[in-house]
Amino acid sequence: MSTGYNRQMLTQYHIEITLQALGEYFSPRAMSAITYANIHQDGLRGQFGHDEYHFDNNAFEKTYAYIEKQRALTLSALGQRKPVAAWSAFGRMIHTVQDFYAHSNYVALWLALFDGQAQPASSKIDPVDLTLIHSPDLRCGKTYYPFELLYYWRPARPFAL
Ligand SMILES: [Zn+2]
Repeated sequence: MSTGYNRQMLTQYHIEITLQALGEYFSPRAMSAITYANIHQDGLRGQFGHDEYHFDNNAFEKTYAYIEKQRALTLSALGQRKPVAAWSAFGRMIHTVQDFYAHSNYVALWLALFDGQAQPASSKIDPVDLTLIHSPDLRCGKTYYPFELLYYWRPARPFAL
C-alpha cells in the first residue's frame, strides 16, 4: 500500500506480541483466554462494520470509546470475580490497541520527527507521544470493499494485500 501502513495485522503477530508482553504475568489458562478473545476480533464477523475493533477508517472517537468500554468491562468482571469475562474483555481491548500501531501512520509520524538524523531502533519508539496521538496528521487504515473480501480467499490473498 502506498499509504505506508497496513490494513491487516496478521493473527500470528497478535499472538506473538501478546505472549511476549504478558506471558510472564498471567497463568497459561488466562493467557489462553486473553489470546483467544484477542484474535477472535479478526474473525469474519469482527471484520465488517466494526472499525472500532481495529482502528480502521479514522473512527478514532468510536474506537477510543470501545477501548474504554472493554476496560470498564474488565474491571467490573474482576470485581464480580468473573475471571474469564475479565480476560475476554482485556483480550478484546488489547487487540484494538495493538492494531493502532499496525493500522495507523503513528510510527511513520514518530520516525518523521527524526528526519535527516539517524533513525532510532524500533524498540525506542515512544508508544504514547500525545502530540502525535492528537496530531491532525494521524490517520487510520482505510478499508477497500469489495477487494478486502479477497483477503479471505487464500489464492487471492497476495493480491488483496
Ligand atoms: Zn484487528
